Amino acid sequence: MTQGRSVTRPATDIPVLAEADVLVCGGGPGGCSAAVAAARHGADVILLEKDGYLGGATVSQLVLVILSTNGVDFQGIWHEYARRLRVRDAIRPLEKSNSPQIRSAVDPEAVKYVWDDLLSEAGVRLLHHAHVSGCHVEDGVATTVFVETKAGTGAIRARRIVDATGDGVVCHHAGVPWEQGDGEHAYAMACTKVFRMGGVERPKQWPDDLALEKAAEELGAAIEREEFDAPVVTERGRWRGYARSWCWALPDRRPELMSVLSRVLRTNPLDPWELTEAEREGREQARQGAEAYRRFMPGFENAYLLDTSAHLGIRSSRRVCGIDAVTDDDAMGFTKRSDAIARSSWNIDIWPADSYSRACVDKTSEEGERRQQLLREGEYFDIPYGATIARGVDNLLMAGRCISAGHRAESSLRIQQTCMSTGEAAGVTAALSLKQGVVPRELDSALVTAQLVTDRDVEPAFELLRGLPIAPPLSGARG
Ligand SMILES: Cc1cc2nc3c(=O)[nH]c(=O)nc-3n(C[C@H](O)[C@H](O)[C@H](O)COP(=O)(O)OP(=O)(O)OC[C@H]3O[C@@H](n4cnc5c(N)ncnc54)[C@H](O)[C@@H]3O)c2cc1C
Repeated sequence: MTQGRSVTRPATDIPVLAEADVLVCGGGPGGCSAAVAAARHGADVILLEKDGYLGGATVSQLVLVILSTNGVDFQGIWHEYARRLRVRDAIRPLEKSNSPQIRSAVDPEAVKYVWDDLLSEAGVRLLHHAHVSGCHVEDGVATTVFVETKAGTGAIRARRIVDATGDGVVCHHAGVPWEQGDGEHAYAMACTKVFRMGGVERPKQWPDDLALEKAAEELGAAIEREEFDAPVVTERGRWRGYARSWCWALPDRRPELMSVLSRVLRTNPLDPWELTEAEREGREQARQGAEAYRRFMPGFENAYLLDTSAHLGIRSSRRVCGIDAVTDDDAMGFTKRSDAIARSSWNIDIWPADSYSRACVDKTSEEGERRQQLLREGEYFDIPYGATIARGVDNLLMAGRCISAGHRAESSLRIQQTCMSTGEAAGVTAALSLKQGVVPRELDSALVTAQLVTDRDVEPAFELLRGLPIAPPLSGARG
């Protein structure tokens, strides 16, 4: 960035576009869940979103994969979301393969409709193509969010504001402290340009995952022999993992496959120039990846690059400081909290920002392997109430991946179902704090926990989940 130079923006009157009890900024898994939950508890809610659809990274970054280790992170609104996708035939059944993972994939077009329906039914007002550009704070209270729209700058006033922008944009403008990176660099993880291939056909000789594993080895060796000139594909046998991507094909009968092969390294996602470069590099990597699939992978003879994600996939950016936090030790040691509002049971899933091929999940160290084993047995860590409440701005909440967490903790709780859980909790907190006439910091967290236990008492979405360790009640709510 050009350092040291600045201009002064002239002061001007800004029209007020709308007023609401609760303003949710960002329409991804965290924001949509927050808006639905707040509205169901009687608040007048506006959700604003810079893109023209809901779904956030699921749609714009083509994050179509549902992953869980043990299923106890599927809670509340996630079940409603998944069930509605199923009605639209837009989600693969959750399957447990020979790897220790439950996985599925969704159709991004259906995701837009499902959130449209859930928000409309809850009575949420929507504002698309509204880009948050500022936040006004008076005496420790955020009163107004400024947005850029086609009509120019507008103001939205609200009594509670939820930052669900993934990047902690509102909190940044409100002056709430935040962290980013891995402790050493501004980047925490590699970025990825997800892409989809169309016209693919699963070869008959690969009927199951075991056959795929074997085939992956052979393909990897073939690619290395050919000296394919793209390090993101070839570096140290990286391709071998990706020949297994069939599990990410969309609803079985569709001849499509998504790939997260791309890794754009050493990118600060908050630097506009670095982000621009990374978008271009990611797109080029996707082209090279698609070429490798076409040349080397049986079943791709007639395949084509269907699309690349509209936005580069960002795994981590701002982690906003709250009045409490999930520390890395909490995440590693499965800490339980009496004021838990959500839980995470995913891996410590750090995609190294400086390597095309280094593994994401630590299965090599003794500590990493022990954690994996405990996860498989049903373990999880709690997310405390205060991790969703901005430090120093009393009516501002966070939802989704920008909540208050350490680097390693974020790498786990960034998974979509957990973002939905923290969103649902932030929505309930916003609505209940208004009803009680206190700011979230002063609200009794036990009220929120108890309400969440009631709200999340829904039928599990899939038959298969009944065989898995169903989410136990929140730690603090157990007798
Ligand atoms: C490559 C990749 C692979 C992943 N794989 C998986 C996976 O397999 N399974 C899984 O569950 N998760 C996965 N994740 C993580 C998951 O997708 C995200 O962590 C999750 O979507 C975050 O949800 P969120 O609601 O916090 O933010 P987002 O989904 O990012 O939603 C934020 C919303 O805010 C909007 N917004 C941002 N800034 C502004 C602004 N200034 N004004 C207005 N609106 C704004 C955005 O447009 C967006 O709609 C992956 C992520 C990436 C990048």
